[in-house]
Formats: sequence, C-alpha cells, structure tokens
Amino acid sequence: MAELERKRGGAPVAADWTYAPAPESRDVVQLRDRYGLFVGGEWLEPRETYTTISPADESALAEVGQATPEEVDAAVRAARKAFDDGWSALPGAERAKYLFRIARVLQERSREFAVLESLNGGKPIKESRDVDLPLAAAHFFYYAGWADKLEYAFPNRRPKPVGVAGQIIPWNFPLLMLAWKIAPALACGNTVVLKPAETTPLTALLFCDVLRQVELPPGVVNIVTGDGRTGAALVEHEDVDKIAFTGSTEVGKAIQRQLAGTRKKLTLELGGKAANVIFDDAALDQAVEGIVNGIYFNQGHVCCAGSRLLVQESIYEPLIQKLKRRLQTLRVGDPLDKNTDVGAINSRMQLDKITELVRSGEEEGAEIYQPPCRLPEKGYWFVPTVFTNVAQSYRIAQEEIFGPVLSVLTFRTPDEAVEKANNTMYGLSAGVWTEKGSRILSMAERLRAGVVWANTFNRFDPTSPFGGYRESGFGREGGRHGLEPYLVFE
Ligand code: NAP
Ligand code: MG
Repeated sequence: MAELERKRGGAPVAADWTYAPAPESRDVVQLRDRYGLFVGGEWLEPRETYTTISPADESALAEVGQATPEEVDAAVRAARKAFDDGWSALPGAERAKYLFRIARVLQERSREFAVLESLNGGKPIKESRDVDLPLAAAHFFYYAGWADKLEYAFPNRRPKPVGVAGQIIPWNFPLLMLAWKIAPALACGNTVVLKPAETTPLTALLFCDVLRQVELPPGVVNIVTGDGRTGAALVEHEDVDKIAFTGSTEVGKAIQRQLAGTRKKLTLELGGKAANVIFDDAALDQAVEGIVNGIYFNQGHVCCAGSRLLVQESIYEPLIQKLKRRLQTLRVGDPLDKNTDVGAINSRMQLDKITELVRSGEEEGAEIYQPPCRLPEKGYWFVPTVFTNVAQSYRIAQEEIFGPVLSVLTFRTPDEAVEKANNTMYGLSAGVWTEKGSRILSMAERLRAGVVWANTFNRFDPTSPFGGYRESGFGREGGRHGLEPYLVFE
C-alpha cells in the first residue's frame, strides 16, 4: 500500500516507491571453519586446504580440502568397498527408500541449502530458493521412482550397475548438478565419488550431512573437494568405471582424449551458444521476458543460456526498445536480497573472462548497451549487457561468454534463421518464439540442439532428458534416458 504523506495543509504526496532492502537471514546456515573430505561416511582430515569465499564481497567463508591423488584413491576404494559390500545387490525398492529420504530432507532443509548456495556461488536467493532447491529435490524423487523399475525401463536387456562412478561438476548450479549426477547413479545401484567445483564446494559438503541423516550406507557417496588437479586424479584412477563430467568444452575434450582406449564409460555435458529465435508473430512482451530469463538468469552462467538472440527484421526496432526498457528494471546486487534479479559473478577468473570478451565485442564493432546501474564496491559484478550490430564472425557471436551478455543478430526468413542458429560448433539448446504451432515443429526439427524450447526458455524438469550435440557433448541426463549411462546390459 502506498502511504500518502500529507504536507501540512497541502496536497497528498506519494511516498518513496523504491525497494527497501529485503535480505534473507544468514543465521539459518551454520558454517564450520574447516571441512574435511567425505570418504567412507567419515570426515577425512585433508593434507592441503584452500579458502572458499563469497563472490559478493570476497569474504572468507571456510577452509576446505584440496584432495591429493592419494586422498582421491581412498575415496575410490571406499566407493568400491560399498559397491561390493551390498549396495549394488540391494533390491531397487530398498535403494529407492534412501533416495526418497534424501529428497524429503532436501525439502525440509531447503532454506538452509538455498542461503548457502547463494552465499558461496553468488546467485540470487530467489533463484536458489525457487529453482535450484525444488529441482534438486525433484530429481531425487524422480529417480527414486525408477530404482525398482529398471527391468521395465529396459525390457529384456538385464540392466546392471556400472560400478564406481567418478563425477565432476561445475560451479553454476552446484547442488542441482550434484543431484543430476548422484540421483540416477544411486538409482541404478552404482556408488559415487563426486568432485564439486573449486569455487562452490559448500552445498556439496552440507549434503554429506544429509547423507548421514538418511543413514545412507558409508562409502556409497564420497565427496572430494579441490581444483582441477583433484578432478584429473579422479579421471585417471584405474578403478573408476564411469566418468560423468559437466563443464567447459576444453576440459571435456581433454578428458575424452585421456579416456580413449580405456574401458571407462563417459558422458560429457559441455558448453553452448544457444540461439533464441523471435519471429514477427510472437507475443513481444512475453518474448522479452523469455529473452531476459534466457540470458540474465543466474548471471548468464548457464550452459544452455540463450546468448544469441535472432530477431526477425520487421520487429527489430520495437523488440530492442522493449528489451532495453526491461533491462533498466533489473536489480543487480546482494545475492541474499529477495528482490535481487542478477547476483554476483562466480569468481574473479570468470569476471576477467567476461570482461575480455565484452571488450573484444566493442573492438570488433558491435554496439554496446548497458542500463544505468550502481554496483557494490566489493565482490565480482557485471552489468547486464546487450550487443547489437553483431556480425556472425565476431567472437561474442561464436564463443561462450558464460556471463550476462546478449548478442543480437537479425534474420528475414525462417531458412535464414535456421542457418544462422546452426552456425555454431555447439548444439545444446535453442528457443523459438512464434504464434504458429506448425512453425514451432518445423523449427524444432531443423535446429541442431539437444533441447528446443517453444515460447519459453530455461525450463527444466527431471522427467525430460537434457544434453547436447557436437561440441556440447554427448549422453543425456534426466528422464529414462538419464539411467542408461549408469547401466551395463548383459
Ligand atoms: P572447467 O574447468 O571445465 O570446470 C568444470 C569442473 O571440472 C570443475 O569441477 C573443475 O575443477 C574440473 N576440472 C578442471 N580441470 C580438470 C581436469 N583437467 N580434469 C578433470 N576435471 C577438471 O570449467 P571452469 O574453469 O569452471 O569454467 C570455464 C568455462 O567453462 C566457463 O567460462 C564456461 O564457458 C564453461 N562452463 C560450462 C559449464 C556447463 O555447464 N556446460 C559449466 C561451467 C563452466 P575447478 O573448479 O577447480 O576448475
Ligand atoms: Mg577450471
């Protein structure tokens, strides 16, 4: 309700309408000063540690382990022992009970997890609260349902677990990526060694608490923190049967080379440079919301982000005008404030990468637009950015920026839209905005992307498979398809 202040004897004056700060309390999270490695159900004291920080103010949060190859070996041995000692032979209905319990506890403790996710990773609390946490719990619920139905999922093929899975995840959706990896692996009867990203280890470490709470047998899930060296030690380990990796195309390729000729199974979920295609018959205001959600959600740290906007020429002017106006209303700042739309960039390294690519866009001749915006003094921040006048050859139209930066291109005909959209080495996702159902279907068929959204963007559901073409990787996560990488067939 607007409060009307009355000047003495004068007309009513509207009160200040700007947002007041609405910070979520940090008190729900109890941080320890120091975390060990979670191996065989116990906390192992790490030999080396590093400090994990909050990207919003660069303050230190905790000391965490930098696992060495010997410590990774201990984790793999614990996983092997748990696999042999009964987890793999447990009836599916029994495994399902653990997964259901994990899902329930994640729901019960979702506020604690959401605050910690925003604190350590920089994403707005409204996203970790309304997207990351509900989806992580939903993943465990969904795969709990499959655990006793594998025979029906793959009739006459006698599915068996693969063994010990080594799982390496990135920093953009730390807990959600953990759920995408661990839920199907356990549902299929595997055991796991998981390495979170260097910059965002804390929700994975809190998750170990949940594992104890649900009394998951020791060694079924092991968490080793550390940087790329820890990941490399896990990939190299002889007794790992499967590697599941989500991250950069560069590291993904290196892993694929490393595993060539070995018996290890591999899935790769890598980068993207998705086209979001807006036809002139689309509902423009709705499309603008979809564009904003497509590229500024999670600061653009999204592998399937709609980072290339393809606009039909006839609606270019009004659409860009609406988009710029909408950008002015985005609130950038404190990730723990419930009104924040765009939070902190995840790390100094990522901020440098975004800054460098944006500079290249300006130098190559694109026109930059950034709304007026006051950024906090400490921490890592980047103003939501739109580039117009972009040629297909520019780096900002080719390379994954992984930040809140949109490149706008135009097209005249559907054929031209398809050609431009597919002019990329990636193929993870795409979006189509149009009123015509037939056009949606024909575009979905011609766009070379693992996921094509129609009149929406960045929608996820555990029942729906997700994954890429070409340099975006191979293998699917989610849905019945997501079981297959964790099974061998007799
Ligand atoms: P990254 O290095 O590929 O990180 C992904 C995961 O792999 C992290 O846990 C990482 O550890 C680990 N890792 C690094 N080197 C490894 C190696 N040689 N062997 C095994 N594991 C290794 O990605 P990044 O450096 O965080 O980000 C770089 C770029 O990758 C981003 O700018 C973005 O374009 C892209 N990216 C894509 C996704 C995606 O979802 N597709 C996610 C994140 C990043 P550290 O955390 O210590 O590096
Ligand atoms: Mg890295």
